[in-house]
Amino acid sequence: MSNMRELYQEMILDHHKHPRNFGRLAGANCHAEGFNPLCGDRVTVYARVEGGDIRDLSFEGSGCAICMASASLMTDELAGRSIDHADKLFVQFHDLVTGESAKSPDVDALGKLAVFMGVREFPVRVKCATLPWHALRAALKDGAKAPVSTE
Ligand code: ZN
Repeated sequence: MSNMRELYQEMILDHHKHPRNFGRLAGANCHAEGFNPLCGDRVTVYARVEGGDIRDLSFEGSGCAICMASASLMTDELAGRSIDHADKLFVQFHDLVTGESAKSPDVDALGKLAVFMGVREFPVRVKCATLPWHALRAALKDGAKAPVSTE
């Protein structure tokens, strides 16, 4: 179990140091900003949504390792997936980091996102991990109203 934890920590630090999908997204048709005053994390998520699908995703901002790694892994995991899938994964991820659900997390469905399992032991960090997800949800809500490109 401790090896697993080290592996998870390494992955989080790696994504913190080398965030994927970092920067403003060209062609984004929705975005939203999230702020976590408890920690000072600030993240803007950009998405290009067509129909019910998230064609592309990126983020920018600054914050702690947990928040930045969460944004990096989230954008990696959800680019090219459907909004339905993102909604389902959000619920799974929320359960994973809060430990509130009676069910054990669906590690298969979560894939790499399972690295945030340890966050449940640090309740103050839960908001750091979920901030990018809340920003994404706000962006997608916006995107649903955005004109759909016919190209
Ligand atoms: Zn934080």
